[in-house]
Amino acid sequence: MEKISVAVRFRPSIAEEAAGERQWRIEDNRISLHRPLGTPISGISFAFDHVFEQSSTNASVYDILIKSIIQAAINGFNGTAFAYGQTSSGKTFTMNGSQLDPGIIPQAVRDIFDTTHMITDREFLVRVSYMEIYNEEINDLLSLGNQRLPVHESLERGVYVAGLREEIVNSADQVLELIKLGEANRHVGETNMNVRSSRSHTIFRMVIESSAKDSTSSVDAIRVSVLNLVDLAGSERIAKTGAGGVRLKEGKHINKSLMILGNVINKLSENGKHRAHIPYRDSKLTRILQPALGGNAKTSIICTVAPEEVHIEETKGTLQFASRAK
Ligand code: ADP
Ligand code: MG
Repeated sequence: MEKISVAVRFRPSIAEEAAGERQWRIEDNRISLHRPLGTPISGISFAFDHVFEQSSTNASVYDILIKSIIQAAINGFNGTAFAYGQTSSGKTFTMNGSQLDPGIIPQAVRDIFDTTHMITDREFLVRVSYMEIYNEEINDLLSLGNQRLPVHESLERGVYVAGLREEIVNSADQVLELIKLGEANRHVGETNMNVRSSRSHTIFRMVIESSAKDSTSSVDAIRVSVLNLVDLAGSERIAKTGAGGVRLKEGKHINKSLMILGNVINKLSENGKHRAHIPYRDSKLTRILQPALGGNAKTSIICTVAPEEVHIEETKGTLQFASRAK
């Protein structure tokens, strides 16, 4: 069983932080909350595998947390990386990044093609799919109109999303074009693109298959691995947004699926002598990710948080989620 690594990342401050207010302090991999004069507030201190401070780059997040997952995926091991946090804490920045500082997804895509091109004794086949889960419904982001897809299970395929478009890809640029298409599809019909994207989970998936060129070779003739890079829905409590109607329904689905994800990860990270039942089937998200969560899959969670005083309660909630995941 692989250990799940849990990291916290602070985004840069957007609003000026007023002086004399409580502040988060980072020391190595520990985060604590301090009073105005610097005295620590007891009981509010957390430790993680890594803490990335405000000025950290996507490049460093990739090197420290993700690169090993990608290398393992190339060698046949499943992997999953999540960004978890309240809306506007930096999940999408971490996953997608900017032109100057590309996020985990574009870096992973480049790394996969750079690495596989250098491996001369195996033939690689890479497939990409991109989906969102919105109100417990799975929509294909690569094929407009391909919505509300069912999850099926079979002996040969295991758990899969029936009808999901899977594109065979040969270069990083081709994948980045598909991602652009997915982003464009996601926003069709949306008046406010941030609203929908903060209320759905998006799963970018690459399936890496390879076969030994020399069929008499002693190393695995065929390897198949699944890599999921997941930008989760905003973790903020619904009460705060004073939601009713559609928003309330969305909020309930989000809270429930994030809670189930927390339960699954918590059970997986318990050092199980008697491994408890793992409730993968309780939500679409965990069901879809099941093959690449647990077992010998490599998993990283990046919990993104905002540094400002106004966000302290949400940040605490995220740090508590992160602590449970360890
Ligand atoms: P989320 O996806 O969690 O809702 P975003 O990734 O959209 O949040 O981030 C909110 C804003 O903060 C965006 O304008 C984004 O570019 C900026 N931002 C977030 N994290 C960082 C970071 N680490 N460095 C620079 N800008 C960031
Ligand atoms: Mg986002």
